[in-house]
Amino acid sequence: MSAPTRISVIGGGLSGLSSAFHLARRFPAAKITLLEQSPRLGGWVDNERVHVKDDKGNEARMLLERGPRTLRPNGKAVLELINLLNLQQALLIVPKTAAAARTRFLHIPGTRGLTALPSSLASLFATPLGRAIAWAGAREPLRGYPDAPLLAAEDGDESLHDFLSARLGPELARILGSALVHGIYAADSKLLSVRAAFPSLWDLAKDGRGSIVRGMLSGMSKRRASGSETSDYDLGGVPSIMKAASVYSFKSGMAVLPNALRQALLGQQNVEIVNDRVDAIQRAAHGDVTIQMRSGIAISASHIVSAIPLPALHTLIERSSLPSLPHLLANPTSSVTVVNLVFPPTAPGQPIHPDGFGYLIPRDKDWNASVLGTVFDSCSLSAQDEYPSADAPRFTKLTMMIRAEPSSAPVTQASVLAHLTQHLAPPHPLPAPVYFAANTMRGCIPTPTVGHVQRMKELRDAARREWGGRLELVGAGVGGVSVGDCIEQGRRVGRTWAS
Ligand SMILES: Cc1cc2nc3c(=O)[nH]c(=O)nc-3n(C[C@H](O)[C@H](O)[C@H](O)COP(=O)(O)OP(=O)(O)OC[C@H]3O[C@@H](n4cnc5c(N)ncnc54)[C@H](O)[C@@H]3O)c2cc1C
Repeated sequence: MSAPTRISVIGGGLSGLSSAFHLARRFPAAKITLLEQSPRLGGWVDNERVHVKDDKGNEARMLLERGPRTLRPNGKAVLELINLLNLQQALLIVPKTAAAARTRFLHIPGTRGLTALPSSLASLFATPLGRAIAWAGAREPLRGYPDAPLLAAEDGDESLHDFLSARLGPELARILGSALVHGIYAADSKLLSVRAAFPSLWDLAKDGRGSIVRGMLSGMSKRRASGSETSDYDLGGVPSIMKAASVYSFKSGMAVLPNALRQALLGQQNVEIVNDRVDAIQRAAHGDVTIQMRSGIAISASHIVSAIPLPALHTLIERSSLPSLPHLLANPTSSVTVVNLVFPPTAPGQPIHPDGFGYLIPRDKDWNASVLGTVFDSCSLSAQDEYPSADAPRFTKLTMMIRAEPSSAPVTQASVLAHLTQHLAPPHPLPAPVYFAANTMRGCIPTPTVGHVQRMKELRDAARREWGGRLELVGAGVGGVSVGDCIEQGRRVGRTWAS
């Protein structure tokens, strides 16, 4: 295949930005054009600074996130970007010793208040939930695993709920599995593919002939035998900064990442950013394509990277009368109402919530869900907020995530405060918030359902056949929804193209 001369990246979310950044480095002789329909880059990354003031005259400028807010330090592709973009000084690290790192809660539907998840061996035996987890964990290696043949099959897969039920029992699978899936995918653990969403759990069970615990023990001995992992990521000194981190963000919020990528792209001779919607793609001579933009301009490309959601690509292909690709509409997406709340400073000893990362809410016994969970942003990200002086009283910010169905009742300040009162069971009534905003994000997180890994292989194979290897597909709906997954996909794009 000939080397790319004009590469168009469609979609300026993190997947598209990362693709354009790495392609510009890998193919310095090619022209890279990033095409984003909205005037703003970053896709779901979205934050704003709001001025708040209470009736005592206390004030602050709070940084509120509507999209992603924290990252895990295990995503090497993001650490590499931090190094390459010189973002070390912009980092905000939540250390492993912080309360936000050590304490996470569940709110069990039908109860009042929060249940702490065990975070140490001693705390494992402190609550009925901890004791249930300890008992299930002790039995896990001794169970029989009828799903073991699935683990060995090339196209094997099952739902996270079925996978956990076989290992921990259905009740713990409901409580822990559904809460975990609410926190990441805002989706149903009975639909979610364990192989796509939690590949490390799948691999551990495979190594342990069904048992995750046996897989962990065999993995530990394998790691000891093979020594430490080598890596081809350009990480500089970032791993040592991250050594103490449980999670991290940026002092000015997650938008630091798309803003820095944009600046880096604008500084490259071979990159152009076009804020315009791709309306159609037409085949041209010699395998090239012409991309029709909403404004009427046409862009010629030798190679394309699609970094838009798969249903949006389906619409584009249909509108362009191009041969269809399989599985573009296979997965549903979740819609979420993100509620940002700021409470005024409270009297000493009367915090709005306990210290911790926040809480998740599992499905109830009838498998219903409405509120998915709440993040206690002030516990991990308070250093993002600006105060008139170092000793000014602190406001409390938190974010509630609510499932948004077409039939859902409107989310009001009163309904959110009623939920919070039920979940937190505060000894004092909650004060009126000084800031409240509810934003509904339709179709914002794709759910990789059972069979996703195999379907994506078939999709990539079909794209390769149909487009002679000149079309690559990346994005949350293809290779994983986390920011780390999206940036990793952009890093790998175009590896099969001749340089
Ligand atoms: C509320 C929320 C909270 C989250 N929290 C976290 C978190 O804490 N940590 C974490 O790791 N991940 C989190 N995520 C997940 C993560 O943020 C997303 O999966 C990721 O940002 C998706 O990036 P993307 O580039 O693949 O897609 P998108 O962000 O959807 O970008 C796609 C882009 O394509 C553009 N586009 C679409 N069609 C066209 C067209 N025809 N022409 C031109 N442009 C087009 C869109 O405008 C958009 O900018 C969260 C997601 C949400 C919604």
